[in-house]
Amino acid sequence: MIPLAEAEAYVLSHCPPLAPRPVPLDEALGCVCAATVAASEPVPPFVNSSMDGYAVRSIDTAAASEVAPVGLRLVGTVLAGSTGSVPVGSGQAARIMTGAPLPDGSDAVVMQETCQLEDDGTVVVLEQPVRSGSCIRTIGQDVATGTTVVAAGTELTPGHLGSLANQGLSEVTVHPRIRVGVLSTGDELATADMALTRGQIRDANRPTLLALVERQGWVPVDLGTVGDDAAEVAEALDGAAGRCDAVLTSGGVSVGDADVVKTVLRERCDGSMRWMQVAIRPAKPFAFGILEGSGLPVFGLPGNPVSAMVSFELLVRPAGRRMGGHRHLHHLTVPATVVGDIRRRPDGKTHYIRSVLTIEDDGAWRVRPLDGQQSHQLSVMAEANALAVVADGDGVAAGGTVSVLVVAPDRLHGSTGPA
Ligand code: AMP
Ligand code: MG
Repeated sequence: MIPLAEAEAYVLSHCPPLAPRPVPLDEALGCVCAATVAASEPVPPFVNSSMDGYAVRSIDTAAASEVAPVGLRLVGTVLAGSTGSVPVGSGQAARIMTGAPLPDGSDAVVMQETCQLEDDGTVVVLEQPVRSGSCIRTIGQDVATGTTVVAAGTELTPGHLGSLANQGLSEVTVHPRIRVGVLSTGDELATADMALTRGQIRDANRPTLLALVERQGWVPVDLGTVGDDAAEVAEALDGAAGRCDAVLTSGGVSVGDADVVKTVLRERCDGSMRWMQVAIRPAKPFAFGILEGSGLPVFGLPGNPVSAMVSFELLVRPAGRRMGGHRHLHHLTVPATVVGDIRRRPDGKTHYIRSVLTIEDDGAWRVRPLDGQQSHQLSVMAEANALAVVADGDGVAAGGTVSVLVVAPDRLHGSTGPA
């Protein structure tokens, strides 16, 4: 057996980042920016109001008080998008809406909630002075020209996409979203439209792995199901060239008589193929190689559904993130207090215990191992949001601390709020 870190290092060394290319902004969410973008335009592009109210000359309001209010004559209205000018002279004010350009002559805005209208709405009355610059957004206050909008290496969030749009850009150069083919192998696999005959099972891995790919923000490519037949497996892998950046197979990498995936990879990968026994449970067997000709990395995952998922999280995910240009390759890991014992026997392997991780009202992370830790028990994995990492030995007693990988951050929930 080899340590997980060694298996991961081998895979990572064969999965360099994909070449950057420009993509439309609406395809870039979650991708990694490959070239720093500097601002060519200031944001905001002009001085404007941050409130609905009245644009004034602050000097006119300097003496305003409750006993001696100041009245300013309204000379017009500026709306967001107004192009006309409504200059404000001494003793005057203009009605102004949020986002409207500040009229010439004015240097402050007073919120409408803090003043009154008189004389049939033609005069605005203030009972206190307004500071120059109040309720005003200056040019470049958000982004000054020449400053960095998005640095190379940044994982693009919705806010980054908006900031790029603020620069008048419709594209951004990123490491493209990787396209990942998923192929199931096994003579026993039946599709959903077939009635099961004796010895057959449903193909659970393909939809599971396609969905794991999608959850990473990658593009899933369904390569179908083939039997335990070397020619069929080879043909399916050849068919992935040009359509995929990587391929995941499940089944056929163990020590059984029909484990043909490892045979095909050995033949087709020209020396780069490695068949590994990784010192983890589940997901010990794993094969990896780069297909000769197409250069496609192929991840041979084990057939047991939980093993396939864990192998995905521990080996495929970091490699795919590297291909996508991400700097952070690993799951968020938190130290958590174990609820109930986690018992195990020494076997030379690190165990990844399917668990539910919660953050309690007292701020502590707690991890509850789920019942049913065998590698075919997909229904249990389906409930897990985390994998507790239990080192070789006799396990962890209740109240002890373990490191926990958050594999499903979207399934981490806090308090449900007021009852
Ligand atoms: P293998 O790795 O091919 O020896 O398969 C290990 C176990 O996983 C066997 O019980 C298989 O029947 C099962 N298995 C293989 N492929 C799938 C799949 N696509 N969906 C569900 N179970 C599978
Ligand atoms: Mg099999």
